[in-house]
Amino acid sequence: MSDLKQLYQEVILDHYRKPRNFGVLGAPRCEAAGHNPLCGDRVKVFLRVDGERVEDIAFEGAGCAISTASASLMTEAVKGKSVADVKTLFSRFRDMVTGNEVVGAYDLGKLEALAGVRDLPVRVKCATLAWHTLQAALDDQDELVTTE
Ligand code: ZN
Repeated sequence: MSDLKQLYQEVILDHYRKPRNFGVLGAPRCEAAGHNPLCGDRVKVFLRVDGERVEDIAFEGAGCAISTASASLMTEAVKGKSVADVKTLFSRFRDMVTGNEVVGAYDLGKLEALAGVRDLPVRVKCATLAWHTLQAALDDQDELVTTE
């Protein structure tokens, strides 16, 4: 295994074992729930938006290592960012994990730890579940988000 792959694997395991921003956010907040039936991943994203900025974010749920690590990395990546920047980040992240864009086309920071998912098509939904759920929370949808 290359050093980079090893590092990425360590980042994923670290965030899986010690998820960041894990828990429920107090009011006022937006929230959305997501489910990936293929793998059984469930996630809830809580969000406080101040004007155009993501002031605070938290998540809870249960799922595989990829979905949990992805949710944890996502909360770190979007906290403090503008809603427009978050949407751009999501589309670039999705391009990276689906293989639409070469890895490294954009600097995605720690999110690049999930780049290997592009070689595991069934895992793409695990990696994007939290992001789809975040999107729903931003749009203030109450319905359950499903990857199917
Ligand atoms: Zn999963």
